[in-house]
Amino acid sequence: AAERALESDTEPGGTADGHRVQLLANIGTAEDAEKLVGAAVEGVGLFRTEVLFLGRQQAPTVDEQAAAYARVLRALGPDRKVVVRTLDAGADKPLAFANLHAEENPALGVRGYRLVRSAPALLTDQLTALARAGEETGTQPWVMAPMIATPAESRAFADAVHAAGLRTAGVMVEVPAAALRAGHVLDEVDFVSLGTNDLAQYTMAADRLLGELVDLLDAWQPAVLELVAATARAGAAAGKPVGVCGESASDPLMALVLTGLGVTSLSMSPAALPAVRFALRRHTLEACRAMAEAALAAADPAAGRAAVAGLLDPEA
Ligand code: PEP
Ligand code: MG
Repeated sequence: AAERALESDTEPGGTADGHRVQLLANIGTAEDAEKLVGAAVEGVGLFRTEVLFLGRQQAPTVDEQAAAYARVLRALGPDRKVVVRTLDAGADKPLAFANLHAEENPALGVRGYRLVRSAPALLTDQLTALARAGEETGTQPWVMAPMIATPAESRAFADAVHAAGLRTAGVMVEVPAAALRAGHVLDEVDFVSLGTNDLAQYTMAADRLLGELVDLLDAWQPAVLELVAATARAGAAAGKPVGVCGESASDPLMALVLTGLGVTSLSMSPAALPAVRFALRRHTLEACRAMAEAALAAADPAAGRAAVAGLLDPEA
């Protein structure tokens, strides 16, 4: 019964004392979006558009893309935020027509936004399709680029977004350089979203595809949390949203830590939302801040988890 009550919960996300934290869904297809039609989700924090491109010999046409994006935007409606990520091909998501050259270190290669160097039409077509889908559905999608390392890339991306007729441009912070320079990145864009999967990979120099390195590839690593904290501080100073859309957002304990670090939205697989919503509601912002401090002060992930668990409301 308790579980059913949670699932039907339609209140927006927030702490016990009313500090708002937007709870959003990660999706990869129009079908995923259509499942959210009546769901208690405030929007989409990460639409991984590469799913539309995977396993094909050619990129989908602008018409084809516009139709798929319109389905997503229509499903969410004009009042819910939808953050669309531009193509994140390369490394763990190779594409036949985009990643033309074999690379020795694909995770450090021409992937994500960097494809604009070799295949700029992939980005401009995608933005054209998105703008068309926005017009058709009367919605304003937010658009963000993956694998951004510098403020200059952020500015070039924002220029391309605006040139396509779209309004809201952001970037993912998943490269340590972008986190360290988050204030400068935020001078160029309207929002950022932390991709903690890649941020952990690049901070810890641990390949995300190697199971034997999972202990390093952990968002609880204090070094990763330091970069999240720096990004959240820059967002607060700029008055701009800082989300998290990596797997870490779906861990209720980590969601409390991220909230305490100053993250303003959490995006995750829809199945993870009820537990995160519940955990947040049981704790005040002050309690979340104490947890964030404990996680940052810990020597390693296990100590961080234990310290934060020790601060949990005993009834949560
Ligand atoms: C991330 O890196 O955390 C992220 C959300 O993007 P992806 O997992 O698709 O690389
Ligand atoms: Mg990523």
